[in-house]
Amino acid sequence: MVKAKLLRNTERGRTCNIESWGAEKEPKSPLNLQTPAYLTYTRFGHIPHLTWDVAQKELSHLEQKPIYQVSMAAIFECLLAIDEAGGIIKFASMPENCLTHLTIHDPLGRIASGFNKTKGIAVWSARAGRKDVCSEAYPVSIAAVKSDTITALSDYDLPFDAQKKRQGKSLTRTKAWNEALFSEESKTGGRPAFAPICGGSNKDTRFAFAKAFVQVPWASGFSIELWHFSLGPKVDKKQVYEKDVIAELLGETMLLLPQDKVRLVEGAFNPTQILHLIKLGVDLFDSSFASLMADEGKAFKIADDFESTWEFSVLDFNDAKFNDDTSKLYDHCSCYPCQTFTKAYLRHLVNCKEMLAMVLLTIHNMTEFDRMFARIRESLQLAQ
Ligand SMILES: [Zn+2]
Repeated sequence: MVKAKLLRNTERGRTCNIESWGAEKEPKSPLNLQTPAYLTYTRFGHIPHLTWDVAQKELSHLEQKPIYQVSMAAIFECLLAIDEAGGIIKFASMPENCLTHLTIHDPLGRIASGFNKTKGIAVWSARAGRKDVCSEAYPVSIAAVKSDTITALSDYDLPFDAQKKRQGKSLTRTKAWNEALFSEESKTGGRPAFAPICGGSNKDTRFAFAKAFVQVPWASGFSIELWHFSLGPKVDKKQVYEKDVIAELLGETMLLLPQDKVRLVEGAFNPTQILHLIKLGVDLFDSSFASLMADEGKAFKIADDFESTWEFSVLDFNDAKFNDDTSKLYDHCSCYPCQTFTKAYLRHLVNCKEMLAMVLLTIHNMTEFDRMFARIRESLQLAQ
């Protein structure tokens, strides 16, 4: 199970201690992970642009113990090979005994509207195209990947203009799929699951989801679905993240969720949005924002007074203004690229579309993302 203990609940957010992560019959080393925290985003079982050799060497200084997020959308075409290898860890040569979480969508992949059916949900893979995932197909993937935890199934497709009838159907379908999925322990291997809190832009539907799943015995935590508000580049019918709208949308729903179960939001959210979601009671995120920035040739840094201003800045190396800038990437940062390379060199790599650009930017952005969470945890210790 995902065993969590609430340590503090303040005006600015919660701190929990996650004591264990995974099926009880397959115990791994004790976790003791303090929240707010993040799942490390992977694509095909790798942090994008990094080999595991490079990741282990250049990200060994990160403070948080990693839990790797693996998405169904990224591994469809390899499922047979993953099964034959004995799981995603062996297939992708991930660190031995590392913790993994299987989710449905790739936070930076395509999430299209209008394709979910009564039988199952549409998941988009960059290589294999659209696949329909139902409560019969998902257990096959779960058994092949052998992750420690999973995100449950959900009819996520509820943009702002969804009709009331469509919203009701979303809950009915989600309940039916998960009743089938969790009807026998063998279908999930007893893996702890995050129950879906969907409902698009309708707070009543979100509340109805929370009421429906708050007491199901298989929910080890809750996955609060906010895909339409995330920065992932290919989400249909995207909506602007407005703090007041999100606060109104989640307010009553969050009050209904039990205090000792963690709340996960997957998707690319910027540092300001992450702080806002933490204030609303979210505990866990994923690091897709750091990878998104690297994919776009950008590096980010949180403000020195981030905890009070919620601000961050971005260096965009697609901009020719860095052509002659011989200063180091960031003075405050101890990562290899910041200690070694100039902004002009990064501008040159991005401009020439050299793969090394994304390697170096990923190392920095992951370092900064991890530092941001460490700072947030520290500030919550002092908060009232
Ligand atoms: Zn750095």
